[in-house]
Amino acid sequence: MMDQKFPEEAKRRLDSLFESYAIIAENTYVYLCDMRYNYSRWSKALVKAFDLPSEYMYDAGLIWEEHIHPEDREAYHRGLDDVFSGKQNAHDMQYRARRPDGGYDLCTCRGIVIKDEDGEPVYFGGTIRNHSDKNYIDTLTGLRNRNGFFLDIQNYIQNKTTIMIGMAGFSKFSNINEIYGYEVGNKVLQHFGRYLMENVSNREGTYRLDGSRFAVISVVQEEKKPEQSYEKLRSYFRKGINVDGNDIILELNGGVVYLDSFNVDYRTVLSCLNYAYQDSKRNKHGDLVTFGRELTGDNRKELEKLYAVHKSVAKELEGFYLLYQPVVDAETEKIIGAEALLRWKSDEYGTLPPDAIIPFLETDPIFPVLGEWILCKALEDAKKIMEYIPDFKININLSYTQVEKADFTDSVWNAINKTGIGPEHVCLEMTERCRLLDMNLLSDVITRLRTGGVKIALDDFGTGYSSVGLITKLTFDTIKIDRSFVQNIEQDEQEKRLLYNFTDMAGAFGANVCVEGIETAGIRDILRTYGVHSFQGYYYSKPITIEEFLDKVRG
Ligand code: C2E
Ligand code: CA
Ligand code: CA
Repeated sequence: MMDQKFPEEAKRRLDSLFESYAIIAENTYVYLCDMRYNYSRWSKALVKAFDLPSEYMYDAGLIWEEHIHPEDREAYHRGLDDVFSGKQNAHDMQYRARRPDGGYDLCTCRGIVIKDEDGEPVYFGGTIRNHSDKNYIDTLTGLRNRNGFFLDIQNYIQNKTTIMIGMAGFSKFSNINEIYGYEVGNKVLQHFGRYLMENVSNREGTYRLDGSRFAVISVVQEEKKPEQSYEKLRSYFRKGINVDGNDIILELNGGVVYLDSFNVDYRTVLSCLNYAYQDSKRNKHGDLVTFGRELTGDNRKELEKLYAVHKSVAKELEGFYLLYQPVVDAETEKIIGAEALLRWKSDEYGTLPPDAIIPFLETDPIFPVLGEWILCKALEDAKKIMEYIPDFKININLSYTQVEKADFTDSVWNAINKTGIGPEHVCLEMTERCRLLDMNLLSDVITRLRTGGVKIALDDFGTGYSSVGLITKLTFDTIKIDRSFVQNIEQDEQEKRLLYNFTDMAGAFGANVCVEGIETAGIRDILRTYGVHSFQGYYYSKPITIEEFLDKVRG
């Protein structure tokens, strides 16, 4: 091993050569050695995959040799000697290399010697292709894929490295495929991936997750704000790129999460990232959304809290429970139903409302487990209440991600059969967010459930821009008017008229109208003149436990 320190200038040259190499080396690891100092740089991904000491190494050939299968070691050693002694100018061989878990991957290693003007060898560089590594590479873009992404995040968590993770993607990718064909669609993805790799991160820190969603991971730097990189990226694709003579404009969405807490798992990190991305797409017109509050104690706490929530889904839903808020008949004010509302509680974090849990969980693969539990638990409790109120209806909130699952209606029938409750006692509430689903699918699900006798309610009517569109396309049994429209009707004539129009319109489509957020007798009195069917609100009762509910109905 050379004792001489590797000069700065030589390192700069090594780096720039290495980086140009890395760009053209599709799907492979890259190494480059300055032979004068026997000092090398190796791909970060290779260093990580085989647990090598560092990207920069003296005597890397010998370090790597330790990882080579004993039966292949001699041939490897000879090959390398030939290169370093000047006997050979190139190197091309296969060997098995040991992974940290003890297994071996088959690799093809190719390299050449680069000489200076005087014929003196200066660099030895090449690629190592890992034949077992396909699982980590996206074949279309050559970038690391979702698996690689998860693996890398796990490593960062393990090594307690503070990083920034960004997700960027574009909307309506299927339109591009439909209009221009798959070939063009593929080229758009490749272009997008390449741009990210060259301008935002590098090959090893850029990932294609799925469809048109990509991610970048970078170590946090003070001077490099993600907003700036994102806006640059956004304006580049908004101007349009030319692919095979077609000008294609991409509208981006982006989310960021800072990983600064290491008491989490990668799934939690992904949930937070998905949340930020979806928020950007749905509510922020594509502006970059940062999860939590950058690198503050709050962010860490938030991540850890969500991790705790995640873990309890896996631990048989420990800490989750339902509260029930009565729904009363507008005329008689008798309880005719209730809405099940989710809560989560732990010693460390206290009680969390659904708004703090559901948006993070609903895009997670574990969400259906929770969704099914909510359904079954609510139906079991409803049966208990029905002993006192035979016509009782239980309202259960759905997330759009539940509805889009192919087996969703089956899970509803299962829960109904398991508890033996009549389907007409079950009312499923969908919010406007269901409009994100395919209309045909949504209409099909609703028709199937209604045909089977289950009631469907449209929740939070009026809060989204497409409420009216939805009720003209789909049939709902009940329309629930959001409480935000009710709050000021005692003082504000205009709000009062607006609410009147809402109830009128909802009623015109044949649905029962339920108004939420009745907090005072005054509000109730106004609404009674509007032909509303039922009320829900603190004036009657806050959400309560099943025990409290049973006490109430027992009288
Ligand atoms: P939501 O479906 O609109 O539920 C009504 C919310 O309004 C509840 O908040 C309830 O506690 C609150 N509320 C009821 N009456 C009044 C009132 O008079 N005044 C005021 N200020 N608020 C009132 P909560 O329990 O925090 O639930 C928030 C949202 O979380 C729900 O809104 C619903 O969209 C969602 N959610 C709750 N449980 C579930 C669930 O099991 N699954 C799904 N997917 N979403 C749920
Ligand atoms: Ca609801
Ligand atoms: Ca509501």
